[in-house]
Amino acid sequence: MARVIIVGDGPGGLSAALFLARGEHQVQVFGLDQTAMHYAFLNNYLGSPATSGTEFQQVAREQARAAGAALVEAAVTSVSADADGVEVIAEADRPERAEYLILSEGKNPALARSLGLAETPAGAVAVDSEGRTSHPRVYAVGRSVRPARSQAIISAGDGAKAALDILAREAGKDVQDWDRPPQS
Ligand SMILES: Cc1cc2nc3c(=O)[nH]c(=O)nc-3n(C[C@H](O)[C@H](O)[C@H](O)COP(=O)(O)OP(=O)(O)OC[C@H]3O[C@@H](n4cnc5c(N)ncnc54)[C@H](O)[C@@H]3O)c2cc1C
Repeated sequence: MARVIIVGDGPGGLSAALFLARGEHQVQVFGLDQTAMHYAFLNNYLGSPATSGTEFQQVAREQARAAGAALVEAAVTSVSADADGVEVIAEADRPERAEYLILSEGKNPALARSLGLAETPAGAVAVDSEGRTSHPRVYAVGRSVRPARSQAIISAGDGAKAALDILAREAGKDVQDWDRPPQS
């Protein structure tokens, strides 16, 4: 079981948390529920009826929590990363270590910049198709990697992709998160 710290509790961070917790990894999500989703009304999230961003967040937070993720009501003030893992300091708390860090900071990726991660020419955090950054232990997802094309469903997809990549790295093989309907 790996420890994963996620910074950011919008759709990107919570989606990553859901998949990782379902994969039985130890997940902490840091955030103060200050996502841009509270300004949104979703008419374009495939498979979901029109809903306010706030209602969406309530359901998403409960889903992640029910799967086993710990939602920590705190802002992260600093992060560092080395070859073996990452260290995160949240407000006045003691440092937390983990094997992986997923940054889902939204429009202002200050922690990603503090790590010196590679950026795109437009100033976004540079990632590959799985959300891997220039640091092997650090992923970035959502609006911070695509600031000019920000949609909730894309952030959630990004979070899922990063989580599946970590699940595969830990398992040493590709992993699917598939359920079947309950049998009556
Ligand atoms: C007015 C408005 C209407 C919108 N309408 C729609 C719509 O109809 N459909 C749609 O798809 N999208 C809509 N969006 C966009 C949608 O809100 C974003 O695409 C989505 O919120 C991006 O998700 P994210 O997880 O990438 O980032 P965010 O939702 O921005 O989440 C980032 C989170 O990280 C937290 N954070 C950042 N730094 C730290 C730190 N150091 N420590 C702890 N937490 C931290 C932030 O507080 C925030 O909660 C709208 C946005 C706005 C502003």
